[in-house]
Amino acid sequence: MYCSNCGKELQKDSKICPYCNTNIKVQYTQNTRTLNTKKVIIGVIIIIFIVVCGIIIYKLSNFTSQVYN
Ligand SMILES: [Zn+2]
Repeated sequence: MYCSNCGKELQKDSKICPYCNTNIKVQYTQNTRTLNTKKVIIGVIIIIFIVVCGIIIYKLSNFTSQVYN
């Protein structure tokens, strides 16, 4: 993990940055929570998009095979 204030690399369980004395533990967890929520929402949207695309492609391929048969 890195300090949110000065960007230096820190120990995993550091609560305070040794370089700039910023309390980074709290900020770090808050940032990851928001990032994780955003990632989950984006992931769900992508999955829905893929499923919808799959259904459309499936229906289109059925339609074309009906036309050519
Ligand atoms: Zn720092």
